[in-house]
Amino acid sequence: MRVSAYPLVEADQASALVLEHTPVLGVEHVPVADAPGRVLAEDLVATGPLPAFPSSAVDGYAFRAADAGTTLRVLGESAAGRPFEGSISPGTAARILTGGVVPDGADCVVMLEDVRLDGNHLKVPASLVAGANFHKVGADVRAGERVLSAGTQLGAAEIGIAAATGHAQLVVRRRPRVALMSTGDELVEVGKELRRGQIPDSNRWALLAALREAGAEVDVLGIAPDEAEPLRRVVVEALKGADALVTSGGVSVGTHDLVKPLLESLGTVHVGRVKLKPGKPFTFATVPSPHQEEGLKLAFGLPGFPVSSLVTFEVFVRPALRKMQGFASLQRPALPVRLGYDARPAAERTEYQRVTLRREGRELVAETTGSQSSSRLLSLAGAHALVRVPAGDQVLKAGTVVEAMILTLP
Ligand code: AMP
Ligand code: MG
Repeated sequence: MRVSAYPLVEADQASALVLEHTPVLGVEHVPVADAPGRVLAEDLVATGPLPAFPSSAVDGYAFRAADAGTTLRVLGESAAGRPFEGSISPGTAARILTGGVVPDGADCVVMLEDVRLDGNHLKVPASLVAGANFHKVGADVRAGERVLSAGTQLGAAEIGIAAATGHAQLVVRRRPRVALMSTGDELVEVGKELRRGQIPDSNRWALLAALREAGAEVDVLGIAPDEAEPLRRVVVEALKGADALVTSGGVSVGTHDLVKPLLESLGTVHVGRVKLKPGKPFTFATVPSPHQEEGLKLAFGLPGFPVSSLVTFEVFVRPALRKMQGFASLQRPALPVRLGYDARPAAERTEYQRVTLRREGRELVAETTGSQSSSRLLSLAGAHALVRVPAGDQVLKAGTVVEAMILTLP
């Protein structure tokens, strides 16, 4: 059969092929309210300094440091948003509140707790020096300073910086639109009664969660049957509105596995089999868009076994979705971990073993999540990391330190 003719490619080579064909998507303007989780498409530059005026750090009195240790006359008040418009000359002070503008002429602020006030006469301590207790213009951010770089994901602090520097709208990358489809005649909507031989379509929901976590907007197409024509119709329709198609099932070499020949008839299959465990049948293709100007669409044919579909998602699809969104970093973080078990390799495939992590002193120790069968999703549920075990006959003994791909830290 034609499909078995696909060369078995190394996992790294398959990754590289996927990323090579993955475009970076265009930009859009979003209000700060909608920006959390998005990725900046351009550097963000502060047009002015922060703070923009000398701003009191405390409640107290502003005066000239040269007058420290003397008694001053209080002229007025500078509250946050209500500056004192006069200026401070020798022998005078102004009451000031946190965030208030330090008035002209003043060069230091004394805390309320450190003064004695008698009517309008203020005794200030001798210890104060120029610059005390207020934030100078530009102390936090200089005018023209790049405060955020393109490729940064916008979290709470980043959104705060954007707003503080006056940006009501942000230029971010478009989210990838992904059509998601399960294939298989045995699949039934979750919650429906199962006849003998049927199973719930669980990959759909697992992959939907994974896609959303990775920033995609997902069009859930449901279940396609193991029949060439209906499958073709759904796929062609799905690709019209999407940047990428993600399918699960139907990519191995059984007679009902129709996804590879379909993708081959629609476009170019770049990866048809990978030296990866789980996930050997992983398939990656590009398909020309019916609209010329849109370029190529990506199609990921993930294997049907639940662990295989999620592990190949992690290894191949998630980095591609991140590239599309302009993320500066495409991969999960990697950390050294000490194996708490003997990691036995697969003969001919790189294996991503699922592990939990625990802290032991300064180290992270990895324990296997049990049977690594590609049908056993419990091997991935609760896993903190994936440990990459090179193919061969070299057992990675307990105690060995290896790099792990971190999914979540304990
Ligand atoms: P396949 O890749 O189509 O040969 O499927 C391999 C295994 O994964 C079979 O046991 C399928 O029943 C199972 N499988 C395929 N698709 C799904 C799905 N959407 N949800 C859960 N299991 C699936
Ligand atoms: Mg199938």
